[in-house]
Amino acid sequence: MDKVSRTDAEWRERLSPEEYRVLRKAGTEAPWTGEYTDTKVEGVYRCRACGAELFRSDAKFDSHCGWPSFYKPAAGDAVVLLEDRSLGAVRTEVRCARCDSHLGHVFEGEGYAVPTDQRWCINSVSLSLEPAGQGPHDDGKIIASERNTANQ
Ligand SMILES: [Zn+2]
Repeated sequence: MDKVSRTDAEWRERLSPEEYRVLRKAGTEAPWTGEYTDTKVEGVYRCRACGAELFRSDAKFDSHCGWPSFYKPAAGDAVVLLEDRSLGAVRTEVRCARCDSHLGHVFEGEGYAVPTDQRWCINSVSLSLEPAGQGPHDDGKIIASERNTANQ
């Protein structure tokens, strides 16, 4: 994987103020305000800062916590985990492995009915949803949508 590395000034220029605050300053969007909190669209969630594939819609679930929640990342090496001791508790911070931007936190053992018993609690503003069939890396699904078009 090619790492993406930019200066603070470059990130400021490329990102909106809210994206910059969350992605580069480990901020958190207010609960229930993110655009993907309840999104059910099938597709791939990419890093808003660098475009790396991070999560897939098939691992998204309703956690009712106010942020998009997934039970696993798209690939284990898509993200890196860091110990976060801010706010007086030990939490596990999730960052994009490619550009080191902050995504959210991962919690375990909360009892959600998901295969991993994990809740990857990710800020909407850290993500960019690419609906299935519209992306260049969506092998298989593109062929299926082309076939549908041909039949109409
Ligand atoms: Zn990234």
